[in-house]
Amino acid sequence: MSFKRFTTPLTFLGDKLGDIPDTAALTAYEHWWAVQGQAVSEAVDSTGTPWLRMFNRAGSRIDEICYPPDYWAMLRKGYREGIISSVFEQNSVLPFYRLGYITAFHDPGLYCPYTVSLATAVPLEKYGSEALKARFLPHLLRTDDEVWQGATWMTEIKGGSDLGANVETIARNQGDHWCLSGDKYFASNIGAELAVVAARPEGATQDVRGLTLFLLPRLKENGELNYTVRRLKDKIATRSVPTGEVELRDSEAWLLGTHEQGVYLILEVLNISRVANSIASVALAQRAIAEATDFARQRRAFGKAIIEHPLLQQQFHERHHGLQAAMALACKAAWMLDEVWRQTPPYNDRYHLFRLLAHLAKYWTAEFAAQTCKWAMEVHGGLGVLAEYPVERWFRESMILSIWEGTAHRQILDGLEVMQRKAAHKGLFEALRPTADPHALAEIEARIERHLELAEDEQEARAEKLFHDLARFSAETFLTQSQVR
Ligand SMILES: Cc1cc2nc3c(=O)[nH]c(=O)nc-3n(C[C@H](O)[C@H](O)[C@H](O)COP(=O)(O)OP(=O)(O)OC[C@H]3O[C@@H](n4cnc5c(N)ncnc54)[C@H](O)[C@@H]3O)c2cc1C
Repeated sequence: MSFKRFTTPLTFLGDKLGDIPDTAALTAYEHWWAVQGQAVSEAVDSTGTPWLRMFNRAGSRIDEICYPPDYWAMLRKGYREGIISSVFEQNSVLPFYRLGYITAFHDPGLYCPYTVSLATAVPLEKYGSEALKARFLPHLLRTDDEVWQGATWMTEIKGGSDLGANVETIARNQGDHWCLSGDKYFASNIGAELAVVAARPEGATQDVRGLTLFLLPRLKENGELNYTVRRLKDKIATRSVPTGEVELRDSEAWLLGTHEQGVYLILEVLNISRVANSIASVALAQRAIAEATDFARQRRAFGKAIIEHPLLQQQFHERHHGLQAAMALACKAAWMLDEVWRQTPPYNDRYHLFRLLAHLAKYWTAEFAAQTCKWAMEVHGGLGVLAEYPVERWFRESMILSIWEGTAHRQILDGLEVMQRKAAHKGLFEALRPTADPHALAEIEARIERHLELAEDEQEARAEKLFHDLARFSAETFLTQSQVR
């Protein structure tokens, strides 16, 4: 097998996310990463977490997130390339995922600021009032150094999986705006100028339907801080996105959509990020495989390069195949999102199919990335665990992918829910049918139908194997489709 096309992100990405209108621009972006961005990214990772300057010398609270200056050049590069603006110019999310793939290949953590910026811009553009859009949206769409960033803050200290029970941030109506009070425990891209935030309007029910999405600027109109940062998190990886804790105290915010739409808007935000997480997972897996390939070609044992030994060669073949299947599933989710991202509730069946695909892709690709990075470490032997070589970092980076934007448990259970309540599996099977093995398809269809008849507790208890098999089957079948296209 020739591994050549697996060594750089663009050679592998090809046209899987649509015809690339300007190949030269993407090639130049990839080249920039190779000759400049990568070194900055490595320096940021090895110096550890960014730090927080809470006060200026005059004693005023400023809550500035401090990084080396090169960090900002690396971060702004993506905005300059139009990673956010092109989505609205081209009315398509695919340019975002293409640029994201190249970014994540070099720095998976850095894809997070772009992802949460898009996940802020989209609900603002879809659900914000005209006045709100005119005031804030142009800042997010800039491609120069003045660009604003977004952030998506839902999780609080009591837990992120069950937002309905655990969001305690309260929103009080003040006429034309709202005041939010509460604490957000995991707030990534914490220096962002705007955030979308889940909060509960006073008197709303104590469940997920009681939640509403608000737009929260970092500064009030008078220039004062709108909230404070309690501290930054010290993390094992994703150090190129600062994550911290935010204290909201009568912080000015604006409602997005209606209160009744709140939970749907929160899920829209999460689903944009889940697809990005899938794309980043595949990019990271490709990177780890590329690293392992390089190493295995030059490392010798028992008289030949280790890649020549049959056992390892077989593993390389399986990893390359798995990578292509994971990519096929991630791309299918991105294509589906591209079809439905403009929908508003109530959604149609295509949207529900997208939700199922997003859960399958997030679950499958994150697991594949983690396993692949662990395997790439093993291929390096003892050198794999040394911080001086890249594969150790890729392993650390992979650990977050199955946790944020909802853990694997969440993807499985929400995937079950969209099958149970919206019959999304029927649309999935129709999408798979043209190239699926008919016997295998009939078997998994029957398994799903039987499963959905079980009592609720039993459904959950037995869900993992079924969801795993469905994800694998979908990934393999979409890979076949992409090959016959
Ligand atoms: C580095 C980092 C950055 C983050 N950035 C952000 C951010 O910017 N914005 C944001 O909103 N959040 C962010 N998060 C939070 C992240 O989304 C949550 O960590 C995640 O959703 C899980 O929530 P939790 O950590 O509170 O775990 P919990 O919800 O407390 O869950 C603990 C465990 O129980 C499992 N569990 C829960 N319910 C069930 C069930 N019904 N069945 C089976 N298992 C279950 C979970 O899957 C998990 O394994 C970030 C997290 C990290 C680590």
